[in-house]
Amino acid sequence: MTVSAPSAISDRATWLHGPAWRCSKAPAAPPRVWRMILLGPPGVGKGTQAEKLSAYLGACHLSTGDIFRAAKTLHPDQVDGAMREALAAMRQGRLVSDEVVLALVVERAVCLRCPAGFLLDGFPRTLRQAQAFDAVLAQQRIKLDVVLDYDLPLAEIIARLAGRRICPHCHAVFHEISQPPRYAGKCDVCGATLQQREDDRPEVCQARMREYIRITEPLINYYRRRGRLITVSAAGSIQEIFQRTIGALAACTAAREA
Ligand code: AMP
Repeated sequence: MTVSAPSAISDRATWLHGPAWRCSKAPAAPPRVWRMILLGPPGVGKGTQAEKLSAYLGACHLSTGDIFRAAKTLHPDQVDGAMREALAAMRQGRLVSDEVVLALVVERAVCLRCPAGFLLDGFPRTLRQAQAFDAVLAQQRIKLDVVLDYDLPLAEIIARLAGRRICPHCHAVFHEISQPPRYAGKCDVCGATLQQREDDRPEVCQARMREYIRITEPLINYYRRRGRLITVSAAGSIQEIFQRTIGALAACTAAREA
């Protein structure tokens, strides 16, 4: 499989802030364009894998959670009613309503047509979102290549979430045990004080997990029936999971070209 230049990564300004913004660095089309969805319970490591895959494949990393985290940093006057409601849901570990999430994605349809392709992380999250997203893709004449489903036992996921720390400034992700920063509590990249994501607190984690099993897990069968699903074990180190993913994508390409 060909390695794309990491310089293909954009600043995701259009995705994070809406269509009035333009990405400062438009990503170039990589040799093989991937349009994919990443599924898996919260804490399975999807976001980390999405970043690594984005650098490797050249596809743009589109996370709906990142849109809400970016909105959290805005002045209250800049946050409209729907977004205020969305942020309240996020703080309580609830899902944001389908209407709001779908409106945000539709508003950013230009990102789905990005010449670099896309890696959707955290969307779709409900059957209704998946069905509506299929309609958006059909309308835009965009074909989804693959849905990666990261799989890991529940107990291991809870342990991962409890130790996760993020940099509020540059969004680098660390883990107190498996990926500690060089200096305790400080970001290796920019030196900012690391934080625990509000929605990684234990009581919020439990709520997110229950919600995932009830609402998002049915998407696994939805995409399996459409012949798009690849299940990847999320056990082991970040690098091991990444290599496993690349292997699975290469096997998928070979099978489709055969
Ligand atoms: P994430 O970073 O994907 O775990 O998302 C963080 C939070 O943002 C979630 O717990 C939800 O409150 C909200 N969120 C992100 N994506 C979605 C979505 N597709 N549907 C509903 N809520 C979402």
